[in-house]
Amino acid sequence: MLNPIFEKSKLDELFQVLSESKTILIFGHKNPDGDSIGSTLALYHYLGSKGINSQVIQPDGFPNFLKWMEGTDSILLFEKQPEEVTELIKKADVIFNLDYNEQSRVGKELGELLQQSDAVKVMIDHHQQPDDFAQFTFSDTTSCSTAQLVYEFIESNGDLPLINETIGNCIYTGILTDTGSFRFPSVTPKTHLIAADLISRGVVHSRIHEEIYDINTPERLKLLGYTLNNKLEVLPEINTAIISLTMKEMQDHKTQKGYTEGFVNTALSILGVTTAVFVKEDKHIVKISFRSKGDIPVNEFSKLHFGGGGHINAAGGASKLSVQETVDKIKKELPSFLAQLTK
Ligand code: 5GP
Ligand code: MN
Repeated sequence: MLNPIFEKSKLDELFQVLSESKTILIFGHKNPDGDSIGSTLALYHYLGSKGINSQVIQPDGFPNFLKWMEGTDSILLFEKQPEEVTELIKKADVIFNLDYNEQSRVGKELGELLQQSDAVKVMIDHHQQPDDFAQFTFSDTTSCSTAQLVYEFIESNGDLPLINETIGNCIYTGILTDTGSFRFPSVTPKTHLIAADLISRGVVHSRIHEEIYDINTPERLKLLGYTLNNKLEVLPEINTAIISLTMKEMQDHKTQKGYTEGFVNTALSILGVTTAVFVKEDKHIVKISFRSKGDIPVNEFSKLHFGGGGHINAAGGASKLSVQETVDKIKKELPSFLAQLTK
């Protein structure tokens, strides 16, 4: 069944605009993940196959395990080429906003540039509470991933035959990484039908799983070992596990970008644990990742205490406190938050 958010008349209107546009930009969010890279590149390749040129821009760098995807070489990073990106935004006719629900999710400086631009804005996203900044808002907060939405965008436009291995790889990667390998409750029969269709169009799923998950270096495994051995706190009374890492600890373990990806899910895999938190020191800020099971809305907790958000079972936020103070704040605030949920 077609996803009703992609109304045919809206799509026709959008493609009319695209056909009259010279500069079309496709943005993903800060700290791009598999869905951000997968969905933006899938859209880029799809538009390309229809003779529409576009440019993918990401705020900053992305993990090595995503670099095998075709088109990653052509992605511009605002962090590396701010002048070039600023110029492109100034002359942009259309700006796609993928995998985020508010323009500030690309970072403060870049977010302001996007806000100032009078390009036609298009949002394709699955995060809760979408902001109202785009002329074309395609938001489905029940969807497992933006990559699935890009598939449905193509499907609704009658273009499934254009999906080849290249486009399929990008969509499959976005779905795979945003669903914890097809395990989260957000996965539906449609998600599996899409995966099946992508495989029939040339995607080699086993290769993608290897590219994404069999990427450990001895250093990463040692960092995980150190974290679990020394930095894991289980709070059985609130079914919560917390792990944390300071910049120094990560430097001592020769940590590279992406090394800590998935650590929070290891904490969530402990028997009986339904909320997991990972507190990580970044350059000027402490980043927090929340994961949960069932009806525990960690996005609300993150919004309430850490100016963050995300999904019910996967959210993030930031703190200006130290790592230890952030952990203490979570330990102080989480029990009452969880207690009021059961009332
Ligand atoms: P992660 O823990 O993997 O960084 O993020 C989990 C989810 O929360 C993602 O869907 C991401 O978009 C969202 N998220 C992460 N950090 C923030 C944040 O600072 N603000 C908001 N609104 N969402 C975030
Ligand atoms: Mn996503």
